[in-house]
Amino acid sequence: MNSINIPEIFARSRASFEALRQLSVANRAVCLKQLQYLLQERMEDIVQTVCGETGKVPAEVLFSDLYPCLSATRWYRRHLPRLARSRRVSLSLLLVGNTAQEEYRPAGSVLVISPWNFPFQLAFLPTLAALSAGCSVVLKPSSLTPKTGLLIAELFEQAGFPANAVQVLTGGAETVQTALEQSPARVFFTGSTDTGKIVATRCAQKLIPCLLELGGKAPAIILPDADLNRTARGITYGAFVNRGQTCVAVTRVLVPQSIAEPFYTQLITQVNGLQEGRDYGPLLLPQRLNDLRRSIQAALAQGARVLTGQPDRPDQPLVLTGVTPDMSLFNEECFAPVLCLTTFDTIPHAIELANHAHYGLSASVWGQDKKTLQAVVSQLQAGHISVNDVVKGVGAAELSFGGLKDSGWGRYHAQDGFNFFSDKISIFRARSTGAELNWFPYTPRLYTQIKNFLEAFYGGKIGRLQVWLDLLALRRRTK
Ligand code: NAD
Repeated sequence: MNSINIPEIFARSRASFEALRQLSVANRAVCLKQLQYLLQERMEDIVQTVCGETGKVPAEVLFSDLYPCLSATRWYRRHLPRLARSRRVSLSLLLVGNTAQEEYRPAGSVLVISPWNFPFQLAFLPTLAALSAGCSVVLKPSSLTPKTGLLIAELFEQAGFPANAVQVLTGGAETVQTALEQSPARVFFTGSTDTGKIVATRCAQKLIPCLLELGGKAPAIILPDADLNRTARGITYGAFVNRGQTCVAVTRVLVPQSIAEPFYTQLITQVNGLQEGRDYGPLLLPQRLNDLRRSIQAALAQGARVLTGQPDRPDQPLVLTGVTPDMSLFNEECFAPVLCLTTFDTIPHAIELANHAHYGLSASVWGQDKKTLQAVVSQLQAGHISVNDVVKGVGAAELSFGGLKDSGWGRYHAQDGFNFFSDKISIFRARSTGAELNWFPYTPRLYTQIKNFLEAFYGGKIGRLQVWLDLLALRRRTK
C-alpha cells in the first residue's frame, strides 16, 4: 500500500466510523465476545505469524503478546456497558435544581502507530480500546511486522465489526507523516522517545490529542532482606525477556553493598543458564548495537567491570558491575540483553539512583518488610511499579499503563484506554422557567446578595439564615 492511497484509507475509515456509530453498545460487546473466541481459536496462527516476523520463541508470544490481548478483550466485553453509560452528576448549591450528566462519545477515526518488539500486543491493545470506544482505526504497525498488523485487522473484521473498522497502513516514517496530515481524531504512538517527540510535534501543529508510550530504563531496587534466589531469578527474567528488547526490561539493578557478593553469585548462575532458542529469539536490529558497544567501552574505561558475558558481544547476555550515574550506560536505553549493577549503602541513595534516569516507565522493588517496600514504592518515579516481581503486571487488563518523564504521557488499558478514544461531553439542563440568577441586570443589590452568599457558603462568615433569605430573594427575582 503506498502513500498515494493514504487519504483514501482515511476516507474509508471515516465512513466506517459512521457505520460503527450505528452499532449499539450491546452489539459492540457481542463483537468483542466473538473477538475473544477468535483470539483463542487462532492462537497458533497468531503465534506463527509473530514468530515468523520476529524469530521470537513461541512461549514468549503466548505470555507477552497473546495473553494480555485475550485478557483485555474479555475485560472490555464485560465492562463496556458500564464504560459507555452516561452518568448523572449532582450539582453544588447555586446550581441545585438543575440537572447534569456526562457522556462519552467515540472520538472518530484514529491512528495507532506501533513498534516491532511486541508486535501483536502493542498494536492490538490500543486498537481494541479504540474499537470498544466506538472509533475506527488506521493501524500503522512497524515496517518489520506488517503481517502481524494485517492479521489484527482480519481478526477485527471476522469478529463482526463493520468493514474497514481496522485498516492497515504499511511503511515507515513517511507513511506516518502523510497519515498525520489526514487529521486523525487521536494518535496513539508506541515507540522510541526520539520518534515520539517527532510525532508529538506534528500532532501539536494540528492540535491532535496524542498518547505516547515511549522508552524505558527500568531500575530494580534490592533491599537487604530480599530472598536472593527469587530475586536473582526474577531479575534474570526481567532483564533478558525477549532478549532485552522490552521497554519495561530491568536494565539497572541497585544492590546493597552488604549483600552484593552473594547476590552476584546467584545472578551469574541464573544468567549462565539462559539458552538462546529456548528462552529467547534473535536480536532483531543488531545494526543498532554500535552505539551500545561504545557506551560499554566507555563504562569499562570509567571503572565498570564485567560480571558475566563478553563486552564486545552485547547481543548476548552481558552483566556489568560498578555502573554509575555519570556513565551513559546508566542512563541510555539499551534495548539489548545488557544488565547494569550498581551498589548502594542507604535506601535514600538507592531511590536517588533509581530516579536518576530521565525515563520513568517501570521499576521494581525486592524485599520482605512491607513498610520499607511501601516507603520505597511511594518515592519511585515510574508509571508502573512491581513489588517482588517484574514485567507481568504490565499485561494486567485491569491496570492502567503509561510512563512518566521521557517515557511518555497519557495512560491506557482498561478505563483509561476507553477514555482516551472518547470525547467526554457534559450536558447541563435548566429546570427553572423564568430568568436565571446570574443573568442581567447586574444591580448593586444583586452584587451584595451574591457576595454574602459566596462568603457564607465557602467561608462561613455570615449566618446561614441570612443566606437563605437572600437566596429566596434571588429566586423570587427570577420569577
Ligand atoms: P521506533 O520509534 O523506531 O518506531 C515506532 C513506530 O514509529 C514504528 O511504527 C515506525 O515505523 C514509526 N516511525 C519510525 N520513525 C518515525 C518517524 N521519524 N516519524 C514517524 N513515525 C516513525 O521504535 P521501535 O524501534 O519500533 O520500538 C522500540 C522502541 O519502542 C523502544 O524505545 C521501546 O522502549 C519503545 N517501546 C515502548 C513501549 C511502551 O509501552 N512504553 C512498548 C514497546 C516499545
